[in-house]
Amino acid sequence: MIWRTHMCGEPRKELVGERLTFAGWVDRRRDHGGLVFIDLRDHTGVVQLVINPERAPDPAAVAREVRNEFVLRAEGEVVPRAPENVNPNLPTGEIELAVDGLEILSRATPLPFQLDEENVDETLRLRYRWLDLRRERMQRNLRLSHVVIRSIRSTMDELGFVDVWTPSMTKGTPEGARDFLVPVRLQPGRFFALAQSPQLFKQLCMIGGLDRYYQIATCWRDEDLRADRQFEFRQLDLEMAFVDREAVLDVLERCVAGAFEAAGREPPQRPFPRLSYEDAIRRFGSDKPDLRYDLEIRDATDVTRGSQFGVFASAPVVRFLVAPKAFSRTELARLEEVAKEWGWKGLAYLVRDESGALRWPIAKFLSDSETAALASDPGTTLLFAAADEQTVTRVLGGLRTHLGRELELTGAGDVFHWVVDFPLFERDETTGHWTFLHHPFTAPTPGHDDLVESDPGGALSQHYDLIWNGWELGSGSIRIHRADLQRAVFRTMGIADEDAREKFGFLLDALAMGAPPHGGFAMGIYRFIALLAGEPNIREVIAFPKVSSGSDPLSGAPTPMPDGVLAELGVRLLEQME
Ligand code: ASP
Repeated sequence: MIWRTHMCGEPRKELVGERLTFAGWVDRRRDHGGLVFIDLRDHTGVVQLVINPERAPDPAAVAREVRNEFVLRAEGEVVPRAPENVNPNLPTGEIELAVDGLEILSRATPLPFQLDEENVDETLRLRYRWLDLRRERMQRNLRLSHVVIRSIRSTMDELGFVDVWTPSMTKGTPEGARDFLVPVRLQPGRFFALAQSPQLFKQLCMIGGLDRYYQIATCWRDEDLRADRQFEFRQLDLEMAFVDREAVLDVLERCVAGAFEAAGREPPQRPFPRLSYEDAIRRFGSDKPDLRYDLEIRDATDVTRGSQFGVFASAPVVRFLVAPKAFSRTELARLEEVAKEWGWKGLAYLVRDESGALRWPIAKFLSDSETAALASDPGTTLLFAAADEQTVTRVLGGLRTHLGRELELTGAGDVFHWVVDFPLFERDETTGHWTFLHHPFTAPTPGHDDLVESDPGGALSQHYDLIWNGWELGSGSIRIHRADLQRAVFRTMGIADEDAREKFGFLLDALAMGAPPHGGFAMGIYRFIALLAGEPNIREVIAFPKVSSGSDPLSGAPTPMPDGVLAELGVRLLEQME
């Protein structure tokens, strides 16, 4: 039994006269009284079947029963289409199959949505994902995903990386999210954490002499789901011994360029620009700025120190953006609403209309020197934030992103860049304690080791982020390879030596037994593929994602568990949840 001799998208007019067999799904069926036409589809395309009751009475009877998404096997002769029926938009549009044998291999119930329907509700798409997967968009995205991962694997292989599998069930790895916990039947009351990343294992691989490790690793993080976040996702995880920062960045740039080429796209220019964290925050108000457009934050603190406009004169910091548009009153009111989301209380702005004249309330308060210092082109609006530095940065950074989208400043190009020289620690807003910016295993910048305890806020780190068009693709760092320095970092974070031993004793032991200098990186594969595919969220490039509530509409998971099962695991639910 031969299911098919050719794929549906294959036949061309060169095959006219051949007897071929196709198998696939019914994309469309048209009954013209006598003749029945069926578009038969597989992932390669569509071939038109013609069933003529005079030529093939039995297939004609079968064809009358056929509905969309039935699975058929059709056998017949390739014939040219009449000139008026040629479809130039279809690769198989010059021929059709004159059917001599037709078999229904599988039937389909009425469908919850048609495959060519647009704007189908996402939960419905995910509930019936097997139908959604048949559509061109998902086929294209999942196949692109395969091409990208294959290319990454081959780059890694060429560069001498070894694929090592690391456990999913482990002890918590601090990557800044909550852990998913797994109760253990054999040891009631004890839990594994699902790895937020293979971080410590990959470092142990370096200490274990593997030299270059990589993995397309699954990671689990219990955090709110968003366009670029799922509970579980995969990342290109890698680690290298005896390297400096530049060597790690070079590997990533090669992976990105290779993946672009594999996807048939012009690769971005290498090396990618480097931007310091300080510059990124000051100039763009974000540690992952979209650099497809300039729109830099400018400073007016000095020029407004003696301003008649009290808000400016008294604010610790006054900064502004020059939007390339003279906004109307209504547009400004809308912007004000947007800016409020980032905590902007009052909006100060200056509109310079097309004739160059200054409009707006604060204009009259400004001295000549202020007006001169705030000169801008006609047809622009200066949007000010006057407050403490953090608020100003947050508000103008948010507004910059908003304006980039709203005024379509992004253009078509792609900009990759690195953000480097992050601070090693930041203050935890709720506890006031020092905490890590990346993770606690990140090494300080050379020469900053002593600052870890003497001036934590002044210590810079060897952490780096890769940004593509304003999306953070991934992070990495050169790691601490000395146990004493690792203990000092824990102490600064308020983890006493005994606690550090209890939580990370195995790492401290390993660092004390011949640890090479090492560093690495992890890139979110689905963020990368979504951007490559031009998709707005990673669910479009994942076969079976979860929706934002954290549920899987397809299987209905998560589901409650019977008491007996929970009891066996040593778990009892709080009453209000039962
Ligand atoms: N483990 C880090 C993460 O998953 C990446 C790294 O530092 O290599 O974000």
